Amino acid sequence: MLTEEDRAIYEWQLDVPGFGEEGQEKLRNTTALVSRIGGLGGPIAFALAAAGIGKLILAHAGNLRKDDLNRQILMQWEGLGKPRVESAAKTLANFNPKVEVEIHNENFSETNATALVSRADIVFASAPLFEERFLMNRECVRQNKPMVDCAMYSLEGHVMPIVPGETPCLACLFPETPPHWKRRFPVFGAVSALVANIGVMEGLKLIAGFGSISRGKMMLIDANQFNIRKIDMTRRIDCLVCS
Ligand SMILES: [Zn+2]
Repeated sequence: MLTEEDRAIYEWQLDVPGFGEEGQEKLRNTTALVSRIGGLGGPIAFALAAAGIGKLILAHAGNLRKDDLNRQILMQWEGLGKPRVESAAKTLANFNPKVEVEIHNENFSETNATALVSRADIVFASAPLFEERFLMNRECVRQNKPMVDCAMYSLEGHVMPIVPGETPCLACLFPETPPHWKRRFPVFGAVSALVANIGVMEGLKLIAGFGSISRGKMMLIDANQFNIRKIDMTRRIDCLVCS
């Protein structure tokens, strides 16, 4: 049940049609894994905390650098040279202390994949490397956990909700790693936050069971012309991950 304090904090969203107290309770009982908390994952974690997610598990290796600061909104200047996850936990604790935050100063990998996904109800994939997102996709399909895949490049992004057994998975779309994919990519923080927040809304709808979810579709976001196109995706019968 929601407490009076819960109602006081979240009352502006309790009136969203189809969401209500039931949706808020579902959200409070949900653990979300956000893998990488940079330009995409940072705004994802922030918006989930604002909405009142019960627990966040954040995984991201390494120390904060100056060239992270144009987009990684959970970071703090004083955190330069220190683990990014520590800055993130501090920002989130100051913003909404009711959200439990668990941090891992490591990236999603073969070593921690099973354990990280097993403790989450939903996964937000926001890693810059395709290999890492493929691994998250594989593990989510294996453990039957929904995943929201978010990616961006320059003024474009994509968001795709993946529900194992229902929708195509990431490997259905990309049987192999796209050859042009690079670790370093052009990015404004505003574009990554835009893409991230579209991903969060799909996640909130999946968690709380309201609204219209773009199942089986990839949303392509163009921040130049400001169009969102939805592409129908189909499951590959020969997909090595989900078939
Ligand atoms: Zn598949």
